[in-house]
Amino acid sequence: MPDVFDPLVGQDRAVASMRQYVRHPVHAYLFTGPAGSSLHDAVTAFAAALQCPDKGCGKCEACRLVLSGNDADVTFIERSGVSWRVDELRVAERVSRRRPLGRGYQIVVLEDIELTTTGASPCAPALLKSLEEPPTRTIFLLTAEDVPPALDTIVSRCIEVKLRGLSEADLEKILAQEGADPVAARTAANAASGNLRRARVLVRDAALSDRIAQWRGVPDHLTGTPASSSALASAISEALDRAAAPLVAMQEEEMARRILDARELGQRAVANRREIEAQFKREQRRFRIDELRFGLTALTNVYRERLIENLEGAENAESRSEYRVGASLRAIDAVAETSRRLSLNIDETLLLNDLMLSLMEF
Ligand SMILES: [Zn+2]
Repeated sequence: MPDVFDPLVGQDRAVASMRQYVRHPVHAYLFTGPAGSSLHDAVTAFAAALQCPDKGCGKCEACRLVLSGNDADVTFIERSGVSWRVDELRVAERVSRRRPLGRGYQIVVLEDIELTTTGASPCAPALLKSLEEPPTRTIFLLTAEDVPPALDTIVSRCIEVKLRGLSEADLEKILAQEGADPVAARTAANAASGNLRRARVLVRDAALSDRIAQWRGVPDHLTGTPASSSALASAISEALDRAAAPLVAMQEEEMARRILDARELGQRAVANRREIEAQFKREQRRFRIDELRFGLTALTNVYRERLIENLEGAENAESRSEYRVGASLRAIDAVAETSRRLSLNIDETLLLNDLMLSLMEF
């Protein structure tokens, strides 16, 4: 019988643990796994199983309320910036003190808790304080892509649920199961860096192959004038704008589904619509960065292929090839530097223009 854990493909071990834990829950669980390993889906499924009288049947009202984001006793705490702030953790603390309205638990979800150790004023101690002696019917669900040593004390207060990264083959299989065309599934799985959500967006994107070709064509299109390099940078920016369309369409469908669910459950509106919309905006920003990073990888691969060709030429003592070996290496460095600057929140137009200008020299 399919239940709430059924959609968590490729996570059999984590699912087996969750089925056990839901029988005798403790106060805090920490879900860890690489980006795109469906941490959010796993936490949501586990929350539903905790609230469900049948431990996650997927069909009862308790399950449906959680899965549609409409259970007033399940709160995903919102983060407004790049790092967690202490006032946001105080909100979590206050919610955790509330008595649940329903028969289940008061479930407080905090995602990406590694971000309590970063930023101007790291606030991990405030999180630790909330985890100390919560009320009997409160359960914290935390997620982290990686756990820095500064969080050791927090980790020691939780049961850890480890998700694994999905392989390209896993992704391809999931997309095919969901009805995707085999060629599209393979291209999307290859371009998704193990990230299931990204794979689901890319498989709907008819322009994906063109975008890959555009990145791979960069060296040939740099004709040596600054005008050509800035035209290329703008063309890439425009392609990135278009790349977001399938994600936006997917989010709109998700919202429509939530509205429908809320109506069926007799609610006038989706409970946390503004939070969800803020999450969607953040996801669009992240998707753009992932897409840019993916393009940079495609570009690096082109220069690597050239490097290998030129190294073979250099072995045959062609001096022109020796020159090109150096140029390919410098181009690879320039792309790596752009990738590094991408993590520093530098303006995208500036970043792309700088990259094209520096690649023009090689
Ligand atoms: Zn249920």
